[in-house]
Amino acid sequence: MKIARLLGGGAPLISFEFFPPKTEQGHASLLRTIKELKRLDPGFVSVTWGAGGSTRRRTVELTIEIHQEIGLVAMAHMTCIGSSRAQIAETLDRLARAGIENVLPLGGDQPEGYQRPADGFDYANELVEFVRSRWDFCLPGACYPETHPSAASPEQDLANLVRKVEAGVDFLITQLFFDNTDYFNCVERARSAGIGLPIVPGIMPVVSAANIRRITALCGARIPEALGARLDACGEDDRRTLEVGIAWATEQCRELLAHGAPGIHFYTLNRSPATRRIHETLI
Ligand code: FAD
Repeated sequence: MKIARLLGGGAPLISFEFFPPKTEQGHASLLRTIKELKRLDPGFVSVTWGAGGSTRRRTVELTIEIHQEIGLVAMAHMTCIGSSRAQIAETLDRLARAGIENVLPLGGDQPEGYQRPADGFDYANELVEFVRSRWDFCLPGACYPETHPSAASPEQDLANLVRKVEAGVDFLITQLFFDNTDYFNCVERARSAGIGLPIVPGIMPVVSAANIRRITALCGARIPEALGARLDACGEDDRRTLEVGIAWATEQCRELLAHGAPGIHFYTLNRSPATRRIHETLI
């Protein structure tokens, strides 16, 4: 099933994102998590692509396993960084042969001193064009409510997003954010630039003090003052932090859906409890 067909059908499109575990034990535990979350009837689940293609095989195998053995609509992420055109083509062929119909084409983060393969790609829009030239996948694109950290300016980032949309993406999924105003402004900017595609907000509930430090260091997401104060009050008490994180994300989701967001993409960190509790309150 192509995910784009599930959008705009009335009910919000709920999706869950996982990363491929490194160990057999982690894999078994993730399968339990996915089966638990399957009961919530998600529109699709997605599997991330390790930086520089480090999880290529595991990403592909897990996506296929979720599709064929768990019976959920599955999407593989794929970055251009670290892959030659032949590796990308081989991966796309394998996914297509296995019945996967959705791929999230990404630029990826360039490590310091990165040398791209001679025939590789630098940006997501180039990967989108390449996929469109030979395969029939549904292709979402990534977008950034707080502007991509390496973009020269918000205007430039928007111009690059328009380029990616014109290359042929079917809908957009946002980077995680904690202040809905950033999402609403992002949608407004996209609409004024002529982008009419559905923009699905990406939500990650804060689950621990270490987790919030990691998130902000990784993607630079801004913590609104009100959330920061509540998290500070929890100190290193992860049980209380989790409660604050769930309450904040639930409110975010409620407001987003009430104001027309087409769904929610949950960054699950491979765990089910926070996502399940938010979902139960919402639906
Ligand atoms: P692009 O669209 O290529 O944009 C990257 C930067 O380059 C932006 O600043 C943009 O303004 C600029 N730019 C874009 N096109 C051009 C151009 N033609 N010329 C000049 N500048 C340009 N990372 C992973 O490693 N694995 C994952 O699985 C993964 N999943 C993600 C899922 C979602 C929903 C999101 C939002 C992000 C994900 N990321 C993942 C992170 C992502 O790879 C990084 O944010 C990366 O830096 C940008 O990827 P992009 O596809 O948005 O890139």
